[in-house]
Amino acid sequence: MRTQFFGDIRVDSIPEFEFSLDGSWFLNGMTTEIIREHEHWLGPRLVEPGTRKLKMISHSYLIRTRHHMILFDTCCGNHKEAPGLPWHQLRTPFLDNLARAGVQPEDVDFVMCSHLHGDHFGWNTRLQDGKWVPTFPNARYLISKGEYEFWRADIESGTAHSMRKQPWTESILPIVEHGLATFVEDTHGFENEMPDEIRYMPLYGHTKHHCGLYVRHGSKDAIFPGDAIQHPIQLARPDIVGAYDREAAIQVMRDLIARCIDTPTKLLTAHFPSPTAGWVVSELGNVRFRFDAD
Ligand SMILES: [Zn+2]
Repeated sequence: MRTQFFGDIRVDSIPEFEFSLDGSWFLNGMTTEIIREHEHWLGPRLVEPGTRKLKMISHSYLIRTRHHMILFDTCCGNHKEAPGLPWHQLRTPFLDNLARAGVQPEDVDFVMCSHLHGDHFGWNTRLQDGKWVPTFPNARYLISKGEYEFWRADIESGTAHSMRKQPWTESILPIVEHGLATFVEDTHGFENEMPDEIRYMPLYGHTKHHCGLYVRHGSKDAIFPGDAIQHPIQLARPDIVGAYDREAAIQVMRDLIARCIDTPTKLLTAHFPSPTAGWVVSELGNVRFRFDAD
């Protein structure tokens, strides 16, 4: 678990598990040759030696302000059906890891999700006596109205793949049924409620209404890009994305790089291996990621 501060905003990374994926499986156009070309600067932290699979992590960010406890992205969850995916039927000590940060599920005030894919909303619910119940019973789950409507239409069309339907049934519907979901605009935030700025940040492309999170205290700020960038290799190849809308995703990636490069704005990523956070920097004309100190 890693802790960082933005003024008096405290952010903890709550780990779930680590995995490696074949780059071509989730990034359109990624090949072993491209990975080999970039392996020298990525190193064994980011590329599995031998297999050349891309190393990744699943974790949540717990954000504590003076007023609120916010969980951004809720990972994959335990006991979830995801055949063929690394997070099928997990049994991780995620809630123990949360407890290690001094937090019980009852303490969480807000749950926010970058988008509605199974590896970003899994811990919305947990299995109790054979039923899926909200993991964070006192939280408001702030869900993008656009993202929710997109997936609801997909599911209700009856043509949705079971890979989509099952996570929806297990991790989204119980939240709605328990009355804990609040559907919000893609720029929803807390500016009016606290001196610090915390708000959703539209980063469309990976999914239709994919949103990152923007956090600022005074002049210290951070962007949580969610799946707008999934692996550091994309900084060198922003044209290679895994996306619902490829053109939008590429534009978002280019804008993110332009916005962050060689600035103090920190990126707190969803899937980069530990320490997960750092800065976009230029090195001899190339775009690279400098991880926060280990
Ligand atoms: Zn993801």
